[in-house]
Amino acid sequence: MNTRDTEHMIAELSSKDNYELSDDAKTADLIMINTCSVREKPVNKLFSEIGVFNKIKKEGAKIGICGCTASHLGDEIFKRAPSVSFVLGARNVSKVSQAVKTEKFIDVDIGYDESTYAFGEFRGSRYKAYVNISIGCDKKCTYCIVPHTRGDEISIPSELIVQEAREAAKNGAKEIFLLGQNVNNYGRRFSLKRDEKIDFSDLLNLISEIEEVERIRFTSPHPLHMDDKFLETFASNPKVCKSMHMPLQSGSTHILEEMKRGYTKEWFLNRALKLRELVPDVSISTDIIVAFPGESDEDFDESMDVLEKVKFEQIFAFKYSARPLTKAAEFTNQVDPDIASKRLKKLQDRQNEILDEISDLKKDKVYNVYFEELRNNGLIAGRSDNNALVQVEGSEELLGKTLKVKITNPRRLALYGEVVK
Ligand code: SAH
Ligand code: SF4
Repeated sequence: MNTRDTEHMIAELSSKDNYELSDDAKTADLIMINTCSVREKPVNKLFSEIGVFNKIKKEGAKIGICGCTASHLGDEIFKRAPSVSFVLGARNVSKVSQAVKTEKFIDVDIGYDESTYAFGEFRGSRYKAYVNISIGCDKKCTYCIVPHTRGDEISIPSELIVQEAREAAKNGAKEIFLLGQNVNNYGRRFSLKRDEKIDFSDLLNLISEIEEVERIRFTSPHPLHMDDKFLETFASNPKVCKSMHMPLQSGSTHILEEMKRGYTKEWFLNRALKLRELVPDVSISTDIIVAFPGESDEDFDESMDVLEKVKFEQIFAFKYSARPLTKAAEFTNQVDPDIASKRLKKLQDRQNEILDEISDLKKDKVYNVYFEELRNNGLIAGRSDNNALVQVEGSEELLGKTLKVKITNPRRLALYGEVVK
């Protein structure tokens, strides 16, 4: 989502203010840092990063801070870093043109509605297009700062989404990547004076009708809203790529309740296993928070148990990080940091073993790979339909093409193979 916000800001600044992208901070007129605030570490990094830019930037160059940390710290950023020229919240990026022209500009209004704003056109990739389908988040997970930095959830009207996807696909982006904090809650609420009877499954089907679109991906869906209609649409629509992100957070029903996730361990397993049944080749990824306040050894074992039962193709696991403005930060039963580190290591070690088992099975398999990137190692990389990173030797001519690849050397993080002639 930050990547797309950055593209939006680049589009605004280049169309309205003649800015051009630079990869040299020393000669740049403007340095912008787009921030995350989900965990504490990146927030701390922000101020050391500003310090680095202060040292190297040219005289008069501006520094702008955008994104969730901007929303959450607001004018405290000016106080801690007086060299900063503007502060622009995650839900205010459409004002970037105004921000660069106004001394000490700040807008961090999380009630601001950018859901129908017509951003200019800029995309970091020719082959894949990120398309926002909603802004904000209506859930109130007790550990999460996002609703406080991105505000309430508003769906973007489907005609705007379809128009954007059509335009991008016409320009060569055969893959459309839909973005939202909670994509399968799409259609619950629109901007004032707009109403549509549409849900996420309908939206997937609508986008798949665009002829030039070959692949549709999305993130993040919420396990709570994975009803049968959604799973069946996912399974049956051939343009919808067969990889699903299912953010578990915890395998313990008790901890899930404390997190206010709205589902149980059993519901999660039921959905994941149904998905594996409907789409045997599906790959499932997840997010797990280790050592949420009050997590006992038994609770943690429940997360390990889900790991065993689902055998995720990818996990993003982090230690719980107490965030300001959230309910869980006030819980008094925080877990000892050493225990948290041990649990995280145990989880990651077991997952690595699982990944080795899974990747061994991929030897000699043939995947349809959409090539989109020339890697630093000289190989051409793409993704299989079920989201495995596949790399082959070849020339740039492969970029933008979907070809069959036979896997010769499957590794944990990437599959190496040969294009099948
Ligand atoms: N809307 C998405 C997640 C957005 S935040 C969803 O519901 O899945 C991305 C991930 O950051 C979350 O899935 C969670 O695993 C992690 N995260 C959020 N708050 C966190 C915290 N306080 N400590 C550790 N991890 C956190
Ligand atoms: Fe945060 Fe929960 Fe919303 Fe995801 S669904 S962004 S974890 S509050």
